[in-house]
Amino acid sequence: ARPPVLVSACLLGQAVRHDGSDKGSDHPVLQAWRQQGRVLPLCPEVAGGLPVPRLPAEIEASAGGAAVRAGVARVRDLRGGDVTAAFERGAEAALALVRQHGVRVAVLKAGSPSCGSAWTYDGSFSGARVPLPGVTTAALLSAGVRVFSEEEWAAAAQADVEDLPP
Ligand code: SF4
Repeated sequence: ARPPVLVSACLLGQAVRHDGSDKGSDHPVLQAWRQQGRVLPLCPEVAGGLPVPRLPAEIEASAGGAAVRAGVARVRDLRGGDVTAAFERGAEAALALVRQHGVRVAVLKAGSPSCGSAWTYDGSFSGARVPLPGVTTAALLSAGVRVFSEEEWAAAAQADVEDLPP
C-alpha cells in the first residue's frame, strides 16, 4: 500500500488558521485519498503549541524556513513576539509523522510561514513575498518529502503514484 499523504489540517476543513478560519478543499484528488484512508492531517502551528486564534506570524528578514531551521532567522508575530520555538516544534511533529508513516508526499497550504512551499511572506507584514518555503516545509524537503500546495493537487497525485528513487 502507498504511504499516507500529509495534508495541512486547514485544507481538510479544520478551523485552525490564525484567524480561526479554515481553507477546506473538496478537490477530487483529496477526495480519492480520503476514500483510500490515506490522509494524515497536521497543523504544525497547533501541534507546536500555538492557540486558535493567534496573531499572524512571518519569517523575518526574507529568510525562509531553512534559515529558521539552521538557527539563523526567527519567526515573529505581528507584535514582534518570538514564536520560533513553536514553529520548530511543529516542524519536528511533521518529521515524526514522516518517520512513523513513511510519508513521501505532502500537500500544504500555500504562503503559510509553516506550510508554504513556493513562497512565504518576507517578514514585513506588508504582503511582500519571497520564493522560499515555510519552516515545516523546509524540514520536510530536507527529509526528502515532495511538498505541493493546494494549487497543485494534480502534480501531488502524480508524485504519489511515481516510483520514487530512495
Ligand atoms: Fe493551515 Fe499550516 Fe497554518 Fe496550520 S500552520 S493553519 S495547517 S497553513
